[in-house]
Amino acid sequence: MSNRILSSLLVVILGVTFSCTETSPGSETSESQKSGKAKNIILLIGDGMGLSQVSSAFYFKESTPHFKRFPTVGLIRTSSTIKITDSAAGATAFSTGKKSYNGAIGVDADTVSQTTILEIASDLGWNSGVIATSSITHATPASFFAHVKSRGMAEAIAAQLVTSDVDFFAGGGLQYFNGSQDGINTIEELSKADFDINTTSLAVESLQGTRKYGFLLAEDGMPRMLDDRGDFLPNATQMALDYFSLSDSPFFIMVEGSQIDWGGHANNEDYLVSELIDFDNAIGKALDFAEKDGNTLVVVTADHETGGYTLSANDGNYDDIKGTFSTGGHSTTLIPVFAYGPGSELFGGIYENTGIFDKMMEAAGIRSAQ
Ligand SMILES: [Zn+2]
Repeated sequence: MSNRILSSLLVVILGVTFSCTETSPGSETSESQKSGKAKNIILLIGDGMGLSQVSSAFYFKESTPHFKRFPTVGLIRTSSTIKITDSAAGATAFSTGKKSYNGAIGVDADTVSQTTILEIASDLGWNSGVIATSSITHATPASFFAHVKSRGMAEAIAAQLVTSDVDFFAGGGLQYFNGSQDGINTIEELSKADFDINTTSLAVESLQGTRKYGFLLAEDGMPRMLDDRGDFLPNATQMALDYFSLSDSPFFIMVEGSQIDWGGHANNEDYLVSELIDFDNAIGKALDFAEKDGNTLVVVTADHETGGYTLSANDGNYDDIKGTFSTGGHSTTLIPVFAYGPGSELFGGIYENTGIFDKMMEAAGIRSAQ
């Protein structure tokens, strides 16, 4: 796992301990429960997931949606430096706390690299992971570990993964690592950097806390749920949690349901809803872990809405739903935020997308001096 030096000039731990009034004296609690701080953070991003997309789980999922398990709900305004964001600027707002231009990956509006929460946490000795159903070089995951001026620079993003702080990653994007486009075999570089790389299946004989793991299971994006992707996303989430549990160190993990967005762009309700339900199953894994652990903050949100999706009546029949779409692109409706665990109360209210970064930092008791 990460051997980064624990101290960093950029980062100071707040010397403040919050007193926890909800814990009765004498009850057994861990240090972070006593201080009310999150030891671990799981951030789940449903790309393109507006309120209607979330609502679809309540009409189309056969079991109760895991969304229902969150005690705190808020709303974010998702604009980038222009009114309607893309996924790159949206994820960069979450990862760095800065509004940037559409296409920006971990850089501010002047293309200057900004330290991400994953990097800040790693500098403090946290372990970290990224999981996506897109290529792992795609805008959302990339914005947590890479810094490039344009989201299209997939090979450069892949190369930055090698020297990044990431300890565990899973998703697609093999073609950007195999050297076919720029002659540099990034898979070999990952192996030299102590990654155990698997390009065929999400399987490890026995997870070891001293190793780093990478799964690149498709040339580009992972298959759609409609094309039998199976439980890749919930299983990868569970595997990451099992892996991080081998260490006493805190961890930060970003899990993206990437293709909710693609179903919205395609104005394909079956595609959208199947991806949304899969994402909800990954949320279930995170919440199960957090409930047992007691020190883990789980935050679920989206970068923006896609498709202008609406749960409208099927041909005027108010007892039947057939979703409609108003655009093949993104919309700028306010986006829901769900939070569970230490610091979750910070996530209520209506605020900017950059507030996700600020609140995660506050919940973990970390302050950035950048
Ligand atoms: Zn999109």
